[in-house]
Amino acid sequence: MSNVVYDVAIVGGGLAGINAGVTAWEEGLSTILIESSDEFGGKLRSDRDDEGFTYDRGFQVNFSSYDEIPVYAQGLLGDLAEPFSPGAKIVGCGELNQWDPLKSLFCKAVSLPDLLKLLKLNLFAKKWQGFQTRQAAHEFLVEFGFSPNCIAKFFTPFLGGIFLDRSLSFSARQFLKTWFFLSRGNTVTFSEGIQCLPGALLSEFALDPSNIETAFHKRLNSRVTSIVPSEGGLEVSTNSALIRARSVVIATDPSAAGHLLGQQFKADYKSSICLYFSSDKQITNGLNIVLNPTSTALINQLVPLSNVNPACAPKGKHLCSATIIGERPESDEELAVMAINEMNSWGMNLPPLEFKRAYRIKEAQLLQDPGFEENVPSIETHLSGVYLAGEMTTSSSINDALKSGRLAAEAALAYLKNK
Ligand SMILES: Cc1cc2nc3c(=O)[nH]c(=O)nc-3n(C[C@H](O)[C@H](O)[C@H](O)COP(=O)(O)OP(=O)(O)OC[C@H]3O[C@@H](n4cnc5c(N)ncnc54)[C@H](O)[C@@H]3O)c2cc1C
Repeated sequence: MSNVVYDVAIVGGGLAGINAGVTAWEEGLSTILIESSDEFGGKLRSDRDDEGFTYDRGFQVNFSSYDEIPVYAQGLLGDLAEPFSPGAKIVGCGELNQWDPLKSLFCKAVSLPDLLKLLKLNLFAKKWQGFQTRQAAHEFLVEFGFSPNCIAKFFTPFLGGIFLDRSLSFSARQFLKTWFFLSRGNTVTFSEGIQCLPGALLSEFALDPSNIETAFHKRLNSRVTSIVPSEGGLEVSTNSALIRARSVVIATDPSAAGHLLGQQFKADYKSSICLYFSSDKQITNGLNIVLNPTSTALINQLVPLSNVNPACAPKGKHLCSATIIGERPESDEELAVMAINEMNSWGMNLPPLEFKRAYRIKEAQLLQDPGFEENVPSIETHLSGVYLAGEMTTSSSINDALKSGRLAAEAALAYLKNK
């Protein structure tokens, strides 16, 4: 066992763990970030194939209004792809711009009263922080006065795609919070894929390894198996080493955190399947996502990725993703055929599509039932000097994962100062 005792050991190298590490490191603490997989990023991973296509492991976007991305990283994110157009194309209904509803007078998913309600909702969402409710999003939208047609044709696929739940039974407060961030900026991806975000956070520029005292140490392929108090601190065992630290931040998924702390955390997730298709021709025109309002939908949304980000496909090729909500028993190839048949029935004159690959994400979004916010685990744990971070302590979003990491690192810092 090495004699090094880190100020903070962080377990889990997703966004929460990375931001906990960055926060601790910026405070001058010696920090080690321990990740069980082969790369940092957690749920934000991208793959590039030999042909030059870039695939995110599940369709994800960043909102430019997110306020937890550290300023230094914003300049390191590489080229931003073109933002998505506000609103969406809704199959069989035309285009809807929910931020500028009066431009959507001819959209068949909304009536004039719905458009006025959208204007009202955009103002109402600004107050999401003070809005206490145990309503589900569907109940809230009905009470707010949206027509059944608007809820079925627009909100169901739009919010269904964000929360991976077309029944809209998730927390209305969480919906309002998301609506607030969506309405205040652009919806963007990164030209080299969503994994640019953890990459920028961890860039060598920001985390100067030359300062040995306070260097940011990183370990991949190291699964933490136990954390036990010992004389003068904590012993963190991985599959290959014993690491000593004065404090620990656990930023894993709920089951791993429960295992390390000897307790159980609620770990119910929504799943999704992301299918990628390429074509020699542009797949749809414009920068909008395409929503499927059909009640029997297989594909919830089609996203013309190379329209917003030409760098995700090789020259002369185009790439799109199609998201299925939930799990399916069919093989990837069977799903691809079913998806192409369904998308061809939309009357959009789609070009021939070639199936590239599928990602099945079983643990995609935490179940965010009405009132879940009151029951998320606290960042304090029963072990002195050990803090919890990650989406399980806040909610499933890039911004909240980053925030949870910052808060846990601040708690560890306060603990070390008072020791
Ligand atoms: C398909 C999909 C779409 C999404 N869309 C959006 C979106 O559009 N916008 C948005 O804001 N958010 C979106 N999210 C949510 C967002 O990506 C997550 O909330 C966020 O990335 C969670 O970060 P985290 O650090 O809390 O957890 P994770 O990313 O899950 O990181 C946990 C890390 O801990 C590691 N780990 C686990 N056990 C151990 C152990 N014992 N030892 C060491 N390491 C361990 C894991 O390998 C992992 O890297 C989406 C998520 C998915 C999956």
